[in-house]
Amino acid sequence: LRKLVVITGASSGLGLACAETLAKTGKYFVVMACRDVEKGKRVAKERGMPDGSYTVMKLELASLQSVRDFVANLKAFKSARPLTHLICNAAVYKPTDPEPAWTDDGFEMSMGVNHFGHFLLVNLLLDDMSRAKGARVCIVGSITGNTNTVGGGLVYPQANLGNLAGFEKGATKPVAMADGKPFFGAKAYKDSKVCNMMTVSELHRRYHEDTGIVFSSMYPGCIAETALFREKRPWFRKLFPVFMKYVTGGYVGEQEAGERLAQVIDDPQCNKSGVYWSWNGGAQTVGRWAPDGKPRGAGGSGGEIFENQQSDAVRDTETAKKMWALSKKAVGLT
Ligand code: NDP
Repeated sequence: LRKLVVITGASSGLGLACAETLAKTGKYFVVMACRDVEKGKRVAKERGMPDGSYTVMKLELASLQSVRDFVANLKAFKSARPLTHLICNAAVYKPTDPEPAWTDDGFEMSMGVNHFGHFLLVNLLLDDMSRAKGARVCIVGSITGNTNTVGGGLVYPQANLGNLAGFEKGATKPVAMADGKPFFGAKAYKDSKVCNMMTVSELHRRYHEDTGIVFSSMYPGCIAETALFREKRPWFRKLFPVFMKYVTGGYVGEQEAGERLAQVIDDPQCNKSGVYWSWNGGAQTVGRWAPDGKPRGAGGSGGEIFENQQSDAVRDTETAKKMWALSKKAVGLT
Protein backbone atom coordinates (compact mmCIF):
# COMPACT_ATOMS: atom_id res chain seq x y z
CA LEU A 1 0.00 0.00 0.00
CA ARG A 2 1.34 3.43 -0.89
CA LYS A 3 2.07 5.92 1.85
CA LEU A 4 -0.23 8.90 2.05
CA VAL A 5 1.39 12.34 1.95
CA VAL A 6 -0.28 15.75 2.18
CA ILE A 7 1.65 18.68 0.69
CA THR A 8 0.35 22.22 1.20
CA GLY A 9 1.00 24.74 -1.58
CA ALA A 10 1.62 21.93 -4.06
CA SER A 11 0.51 23.97 -7.07
CA SER A 12 3.78 25.87 -7.54
CA GLY A 13 7.52 26.03 -6.81
CA LEU A 14 8.98 23.76 -4.16
CA GLY A 15 5.69 22.07 -3.25
CA LEU A 16 4.91 21.12 -6.83
CA ALA A 17 8.44 19.82 -7.50
CA CYS A 18 8.23 17.72 -4.34
CA ALA A 19 4.74 16.43 -5.21
CA GLU A 20 5.98 15.40 -8.63
CA THR A 21 9.06 13.65 -7.21
CA LEU A 22 7.13 11.69 -4.59
CA ALA A 23 4.30 10.74 -6.96
CA LYS A 24 6.77 9.40 -9.51
CA THR A 25 8.50 7.13 -6.98
CA GLY A 26 5.33 5.01 -6.99
CA LYS A 27 5.63 4.70 -3.21
CA TYR A 28 3.42 7.64 -2.32
CA PHE A 29 -0.11 8.80 -2.98
CA VAL A 30 0.05 12.60 -2.91
CA VAL A 31 -2.74 14.81 -1.64
CA MET A 32 -2.02 18.22 -3.17
CA ALA A 33 -3.56 20.72 -0.74
CA CYS A 34 -4.10 23.85 -2.85
CA ARG A 35 -5.95 27.15 -2.56
CA ASP A 36 -6.75 26.94 -6.27
CA VAL A 37 -7.87 23.38 -7.08
CA GLU A 38 -8.15 23.97 -10.84
CA LYS A 39 -4.57 25.27 -10.95
CA GLY A 40 -3.41 22.25 -8.95
CA LYS A 41 -5.04 19.86 -11.41
CA ARG A 42 -3.63 21.71 -14.39
CA VAL A 43 -0.02 21.82 -13.20
CA ALA A 44 -0.08 18.18 -12.06
CA LYS A 45 -1.09 17.21 -15.60
CA GLU A 46 1.53 19.51 -17.14
CA ARG A 47 4.23 17.83 -15.03
CA GLY A 48 3.07 14.40 -16.13
CA MET A 49 2.21 13.17 -12.64
CA PRO A 50 0.81 9.66 -13.17
CA ASP A 51 -2.98 9.25 -12.93
CA GLY A 52 -3.84 7.53 -9.68
CA SER A 53 -0.75 8.86 -7.90
CA TYR A 54 -2.35 12.05 -6.60
CA THR A 55 -5.49 14.05 -5.92
CA VAL A 56 -6.02 17.79 -5.49
CA MET A 57 -7.98 19.04 -2.49
CA LYS A 58 -9.01 22.55 -1.49
CA LEU A 59 -7.03 24.20 1.31
CA GLU A 60 -7.11 27.96 1.85
CA LEU A 61 -4.69 28.62 4.69
CA ALA A 62 -5.96 32.17 5.09
CA SER A 63 -9.11 30.70 6.64
CA LEU A 64 -9.19 28.53 9.78
CA GLN A 65 -12.58 27.23 8.65
CA SER A 66 -11.02 26.07 5.39
CA VAL A 67 -8.30 24.25 7.37
CA ARG A 68 -10.98 22.48 9.41
CA ASP A 69 -12.95 21.64 6.26
CA PHE A 70 -9.81 20.25 4.61
CA VAL A 71 -9.15 17.95 7.57
CA ALA A 72 -12.75 16.68 7.45
CA ASN A 73 -12.56 16.12 3.68
CA LEU A 74 -9.22 14.36 4.01
CA LYS A 75 -10.60 12.01 6.67
CA ALA A 76 -13.58 11.17 4.46
CA PHE A 77 -11.31 10.65 1.45
CA LYS A 78 -8.84 8.30 3.09
CA SER A 79 -11.44 6.64 5.40
CA ALA A 80 -9.74 4.62 8.16
CA ARG A 81 -6.27 4.72 6.67
CA PRO A 82 -3.97 6.97 8.73
CA LEU A 83 -2.05 9.81 7.18
CA THR A 84 1.65 8.92 7.12
CA HIS A 85 3.30 12.14 5.93
CA LEU A 86 2.54 15.85 6.13
CA ILE A 87 4.53 18.62 4.46
CA CYS A 88 3.68 22.19 5.44
CA ASN A 89 5.17 24.09 2.53
CA ALA A 90 2.78 26.84 1.39
CA ALA A 91 3.79 30.42 2.11
CA VAL A 92 3.31 34.01 1.09
CA TYR A 93 5.90 36.75 1.19
CA LYS A 94 4.75 40.35 1.07
CA PRO A 95 7.85 42.52 1.25
CA THR A 96 6.51 45.51 -0.66
CA ASP A 97 3.01 45.91 0.76
CA PRO A 98 2.79 49.22 2.63
CA GLU A 99 -0.26 48.03 4.56
CA PRO A 100 -1.04 44.60 5.97
CA ALA A 101 -3.55 42.29 4.29
CA TRP A 102 -5.68 40.19 6.66
CA THR A 103 -6.86 36.60 6.66
CA ASP A 104 -10.53 35.68 7.20
CA ASP A 105 -9.79 35.41 10.90
CA GLY A 106 -8.02 38.77 11.06
CA PHE A 107 -4.38 37.61 11.16
CA GLU A 108 -1.76 39.50 9.17
CA MET A 109 -1.57 37.54 5.89
CA SER A 110 1.97 36.10 5.99
CA MET A 111 1.81 35.13 9.66
CA GLY A 112 -1.74 33.83 9.14
CA VAL A 113 -0.99 31.65 6.11
CA ASN A 114 2.56 30.56 6.89
CA HIS A 115 2.20 29.97 10.61
CA PHE A 116 -1.34 30.00 12.04
CA GLY A 117 -2.98 28.01 9.23
CA HIS A 118 -0.28 25.33 9.38
CA PHE A 119 -0.25 25.37 13.18
CA LEU A 120 -3.93 24.44 13.24
CA LEU A 121 -3.52 21.90 10.44
CA VAL A 122 -0.72 19.98 12.17
CA ASN A 123 -2.52 19.97 15.48
CA LEU A 124 -5.73 18.65 13.93
CA LEU A 125 -3.87 15.82 12.15
CA LEU A 126 -1.59 14.66 15.00
CA ASP A 127 -4.01 12.19 16.48
CA ASP A 128 -4.60 10.48 13.15
CA MET A 129 -0.89 10.43 12.27
CA SER A 130 0.04 8.91 15.61
CA ARG A 131 -1.74 5.73 14.43
CA ALA A 132 0.55 5.44 11.40
CA LYS A 133 3.85 3.57 11.36
CA GLY A 134 6.83 5.73 10.44
CA ALA A 135 4.88 8.99 10.28
CA ARG A 136 6.77 12.17 9.43
CA VAL A 137 5.87 15.86 9.54
CA CYS A 138 8.07 18.46 7.84
CA ILE A 139 7.48 22.19 8.08
CA VAL A 140 9.55 24.07 5.51
CA GLY A 141 11.79 26.57 7.28
CA SER A 142 14.18 29.16 6.01
CA ILE A 143 17.53 30.69 6.74
CA THR A 144 15.71 33.99 6.69
CA GLY A 145 14.57 33.03 10.16
CA ASN A 146 18.19 32.40 11.15
CA THR A 147 20.08 35.38 12.41
CA ASN A 148 23.36 33.43 12.18
CA THR A 149 23.45 33.21 8.38
CA VAL A 150 24.01 35.67 5.54
CA GLY A 151 20.44 35.39 4.28
CA GLY A 152 18.94 35.56 7.72
CA GLY A 153 21.30 37.73 9.67
CA LEU A 154 22.86 40.29 7.41
CA VAL A 155 19.94 40.95 5.13
CA TYR A 156 17.75 43.56 6.76
CA PRO A 157 15.30 43.20 8.49
CA GLN A 158 15.97 40.51 11.08
CA ALA A 159 13.33 38.18 12.43
CA ASN A 160 12.47 39.09 15.99
CA LEU A 161 9.42 37.93 17.90
CA GLY A 162 10.31 40.25 20.79
CA ASN A 163 8.26 39.30 23.81
CA LEU A 164 5.30 38.34 21.59
CA ALA A 165 3.29 41.38 22.62
CA GLY A 166 1.32 41.15 19.37
CA PHE A 167 0.45 37.49 19.91
CA GLU A 168 -0.56 38.34 23.46
CA LYS A 169 -3.10 40.79 22.07
CA GLY A 170 -4.56 37.96 19.96
CA ALA A 171 -2.50 38.62 16.80
CA THR A 172 -5.56 39.99 15.01
CA LYS A 173 -6.42 43.22 13.25
CA PRO A 174 -5.25 45.91 13.90
CA VAL A 175 -2.27 44.05 15.46
CA ALA A 176 -0.09 43.03 12.50
CA MET A 177 3.23 41.95 13.96
CA ALA A 178 4.18 39.24 16.47
CA ASP A 179 6.07 41.80 18.53
CA GLY A 180 3.16 44.25 18.40
CA LYS A 181 5.14 46.84 16.40
CA PRO A 182 3.94 48.53 13.17
CA PHE A 183 3.56 46.40 10.02
CA PHE A 184 6.73 45.51 8.14
CA GLY A 185 6.08 42.95 5.40
CA ALA A 186 9.57 41.51 4.93
CA LYS A 187 9.93 41.04 8.67
CA ALA A 188 6.47 39.48 9.03
CA TYR A 189 7.58 36.71 6.63
CA LYS A 190 10.78 36.10 8.58
CA ASP A 191 8.92 36.09 11.89
CA SER A 192 6.47 33.55 10.46
CA LYS A 193 9.37 31.29 9.44
CA VAL A 194 10.81 31.48 12.97
CA CYS A 195 7.39 30.42 14.26
CA ASN A 196 7.39 27.53 11.75
CA MET A 197 10.74 26.30 13.02
CA MET A 198 9.84 26.79 16.67
CA THR A 199 6.64 24.83 16.05
CA VAL A 200 8.76 21.89 14.88
CA SER A 201 10.90 22.05 18.03
CA GLU A 202 7.81 22.19 20.22
CA LEU A 203 6.10 19.34 18.33
CA HIS A 204 9.23 17.26 18.82
CA ARG A 205 9.48 18.08 22.50
CA ARG A 206 5.82 17.51 23.21
CA TYR A 207 4.85 14.61 20.96
CA HIS A 208 7.76 12.69 19.47
CA GLU A 209 8.26 10.24 22.33
CA ASP A 210 4.59 9.42 22.78
CA THR A 211 3.55 9.27 19.15
CA GLY A 212 6.74 8.20 17.35
CA ILE A 213 6.07 10.87 14.73
CA VAL A 214 9.28 12.33 13.28
CA PHE A 215 9.14 16.14 13.16
CA SER A 216 11.60 18.15 11.12
CA SER A 217 12.17 21.39 9.31
CA MET A 218 14.42 22.04 6.35
CA TYR A 219 15.94 24.83 4.31
CA PRO A 220 15.83 23.87 0.63
CA GLY A 221 18.46 26.36 -0.56
CA CYS A 222 17.57 29.57 -2.32
CA ILE A 223 15.12 28.74 -5.11
CA ALA A 224 15.42 32.21 -6.55
CA GLU A 225 12.99 31.66 -9.44
CA THR A 226 9.83 30.62 -7.60
CA ALA A 227 6.68 32.67 -7.46
CA LEU A 228 7.49 33.49 -3.84
CA PHE A 229 9.29 36.53 -5.17
CA ARG A 230 6.38 37.56 -7.38
CA GLU A 231 5.99 40.87 -5.60
CA LYS A 232 9.61 41.88 -6.02
CA ARG A 233 10.54 44.36 -8.74
CA PRO A 234 11.57 42.98 -12.18
CA TRP A 235 15.25 43.90 -11.84
CA PHE A 236 15.34 41.98 -8.56
CA ARG A 237 13.74 38.91 -10.07
CA LYS A 238 16.30 38.95 -12.87
CA LEU A 239 19.40 39.55 -10.77
CA PHE A 240 18.54 37.59 -7.62
CA PRO A 241 19.08 34.10 -9.12
CA VAL A 242 22.38 35.26 -10.61
CA PHE A 243 23.48 36.71 -7.28
CA MET A 244 22.55 33.55 -5.41
CA LYS A 245 24.26 31.33 -7.98
CA TYR A 246 27.57 33.10 -8.36
CA VAL A 247 28.00 35.18 -5.23
CA THR A 248 26.56 33.29 -2.29
CA GLY A 249 26.51 29.80 -3.85
CA GLY A 250 23.17 29.20 -2.14
CA TYR A 251 21.17 28.83 -5.33
CA VAL A 252 19.24 25.66 -6.04
CA GLY A 253 16.89 24.84 -8.94
CA GLU A 254 13.24 24.10 -8.35
CA GLN A 255 13.51 20.43 -9.23
CA GLU A 256 16.46 19.75 -7.00
CA ALA A 257 14.86 21.68 -4.15
CA GLY A 258 11.79 19.47 -4.57
CA GLU A 259 14.00 16.39 -4.41
CA ARG A 260 15.58 17.69 -1.22
CA LEU A 261 12.19 18.08 0.40
CA ALA A 262 11.20 14.61 -0.84
CA GLN A 263 14.40 13.25 0.71
CA VAL A 264 13.36 14.51 4.15
CA ILE A 265 10.18 12.48 3.75
CA ASP A 266 11.62 9.37 2.14
CA ASP A 267 15.26 8.86 3.14
CA PRO A 268 15.84 6.41 6.04
CA GLN A 269 18.60 8.70 7.34
CA CYS A 270 16.01 11.44 7.89
CA ASN A 271 14.17 9.29 10.39
CA LYS A 272 15.40 11.44 13.25
CA SER A 273 13.07 13.88 14.95
CA GLY A 274 13.69 17.49 15.89
CA VAL A 275 16.22 18.12 13.11
CA TYR A 276 16.63 21.14 10.85
CA TRP A 277 17.97 19.67 7.58
CA SER A 278 20.15 21.57 5.12
CA TRP A 279 22.44 20.71 2.21
CA ASN A 280 26.04 21.75 1.85
CA GLY A 281 28.00 22.90 -1.15
CA GLY A 282 26.51 23.65 -4.53
CA ALA A 283 23.64 22.13 -6.40
CA GLN A 284 23.73 18.63 -7.87
CA THR A 285 24.38 18.20 -11.55
CA VAL A 286 22.04 15.24 -11.82
CA GLY A 287 18.85 14.67 -9.88
CA ARG A 288 18.65 12.40 -6.89
CA TRP A 289 15.78 10.62 -8.58
CA ALA A 290 15.97 9.42 -12.16
CA PRO A 291 13.05 10.33 -14.45
CA ASP A 292 11.61 6.85 -13.94
CA GLY A 293 11.27 7.64 -10.25
CA LYS A 294 14.12 5.41 -9.02
CA PRO A 295 16.60 6.95 -6.58
CA ARG A 296 20.06 7.20 -8.05
CA GLY A 297 22.07 8.69 -5.23
CA ALA A 298 24.02 11.89 -5.11
CA GLY A 299 25.62 13.32 -8.23
CA GLY A 300 27.72 16.36 -8.82
CA SER A 301 29.58 18.26 -6.15
CA GLY A 302 28.11 19.13 -2.80
CA GLY A 303 24.44 18.87 -2.11
CA GLU A 304 24.97 16.52 0.81
CA ILE A 305 22.37 16.60 3.52
CA PHE A 306 23.39 17.54 7.06
CA GLU A 307 21.83 18.43 10.40
CA ASN A 308 22.02 22.18 10.57
CA GLN A 309 22.05 24.22 13.74
CA GLN A 310 19.06 26.38 14.41
CA SER A 311 19.55 30.04 15.14
CA ASP A 312 19.56 31.35 18.69
CA ALA A 313 16.17 32.90 18.05
CA VAL A 314 14.67 29.52 17.14
CA ARG A 315 16.37 27.80 20.08
CA ASP A 316 14.92 30.25 22.59
CA THR A 317 12.76 27.65 24.35
CA GLU A 318 10.98 30.09 26.65
CA THR A 319 9.74 32.13 23.69
CA ALA A 320 8.90 28.92 21.81
CA LYS A 321 6.70 27.71 24.68
CA LYS A 322 4.97 31.06 24.85
CA MET A 323 4.54 31.11 21.06
CA TRP A 324 2.94 27.65 21.24
CA ALA A 325 0.49 28.60 23.99
CA LEU A 326 -0.53 31.88 22.34
CA SER A 327 -0.87 30.24 18.91
CA LYS A 328 -3.18 27.58 20.35
CA LYS A 329 -5.33 30.32 21.76
CA ALA A 330 -5.28 32.32 18.52
CA VAL A 331 -6.50 29.38 16.40
CA GLY A 332 -9.12 28.34 18.95
CA LEU A 333 -7.53 25.14 20.23
CA THR A 334 -7.86 25.90 23.94
P1 NDP B 1 5.75 29.65 -4.32
O1 NDP B 1 5.13 31.00 -4.22
O2 NDP B 1 6.15 29.13 -5.66
O3 NDP B 1 4.81 28.57 -3.65
C1 NDP B 1 4.02 28.86 -2.54
C2 NDP B 1 2.80 27.96 -2.56
O4 NDP B 1 1.95 28.32 -1.46
C3 NDP B 1 1.96 28.10 -3.83
O5 NDP B 1 1.53 26.83 -4.25
C4 NDP B 1 0.78 28.94 -3.37
O6 NDP B 1 -0.40 28.68 -4.10
C5 NDP B 1 0.64 28.45 -1.93
N1 NDP B 1 -0.15 29.39 -1.13
C6 NDP B 1 0.04 30.72 -1.00
N2 NDP B 1 -0.92 31.25 -0.24
C7 NDP B 1 -1.74 30.23 0.14
C8 NDP B 1 -2.93 30.17 0.91
N3 NDP B 1 -3.49 31.26 1.43
N4 NDP B 1 -3.51 28.96 1.09
C9 NDP B 1 -2.98 27.86 0.53
N5 NDP B 1 -1.87 27.87 -0.23
C10 NDP B 1 -1.26 29.05 -0.43
O7 NDP B 1 7.03 29.71 -3.36
P2 NDP B 1 8.17 28.63 -3.01
O8 NDP B 1 7.94 27.36 -3.69
O9 NDP B 1 9.46 29.32 -3.16
O10 NDP B 1 7.94 28.46 -1.45
C11 NDP B 1 7.65 27.22 -0.85
C12 NDP B 1 8.23 27.19 0.56
O11 NDP B 1 9.65 27.30 0.50
C13 NDP B 1 7.75 28.30 1.48
O12 NDP B 1 7.51 27.75 2.76
C14 NDP B 1 8.93 29.25 1.53
O13 NDP B 1 8.96 29.97 2.74
C15 NDP B 1 10.06 28.25 1.46
N6 NDP B 1 11.34 28.77 1.05
C16 NDP B 1 11.54 29.25 -0.23
C17 NDP B 1 12.78 29.74 -0.59
C18 NDP B 1 13.05 30.26 -1.93
O14 NDP B 1 14.19 30.65 -2.17
N7 NDP B 1 12.10 30.30 -2.85
C19 NDP B 1 13.90 29.73 0.37
C20 NDP B 1 13.56 29.21 1.65
C21 NDP B 1 12.34 28.74 1.96
P3 NDP B 1 -0.59 29.19 -5.63
O15 NDP B 1 0.06 28.12 -6.47
O16 NDP B 1 -2.08 29.23 -5.77
O17 NDP B 1 0.09 30.52 -5.75
